[in-house]
Amino acid sequence: MKMSVDKALRFEGVPQEFEISVPAPVSDFAEDDISFAGDVVLHGSMTGIGENVALDGVLTATLLSPCARCLEEAKYDMKVPFEELFVRQPDPDHPDAYLYEGKEVDVTELTVANIAMNLPMQFLCKEDCAGLCPMCGQNLNLGTCKCDPALERSAFSALKALLDVKDDKEV
Ligand SMILES: [Zn+2]
Ligand SMILES: [Zn+2]
Repeated sequence: MKMSVDKALRFEGVPQEFEISVPAPVSDFAEDDISFAGDVVLHGSMTGIGENVALDGVLTATLLSPCARCLEEAKYDMKVPFEELFVRQPDPDHPDAYLYEGKEVDVTELTVANIAMNLPMQFLCKEDCAGLCPMCGQNLNLGTCKCDPALERSAFSALKALLDVKDDKEV
């Protein structure tokens, strides 16, 4: 997604406000089982520094992924502050800077990088999600099951549950 930095270059040193909607980078996070509700929005200010352009802003996105405990869809509202620099020539003083040419910068890469660096440790549908019964698979948020909690902890019953599932599949 390209964004014009013409104004920032013309009015060097004067921060220019920007807001841009970037299509959700769905394929970059498909392996992590993460999808998005809507676009990713970047807003903040851009400042021309000589030939370079500094972006200072906040990234907001809504991520969706199965809850780590119950597998129902869990939503994560991400809000990440970022500071990035775009340069015309590779600059050893700024090894993390992005390259650009002309009067536009491409914000796709920084969008993906900032999301990837700020993913939650795990997605939860709610803080106190009760998860699934390890024996029968009942979603314990929706009600309890009849399984004996003492048996749940035995390795034998876990194995038996696995075999039961396997049998079901073979029928
Ligand atoms: Zn859950
Ligand atoms: Zn159960």
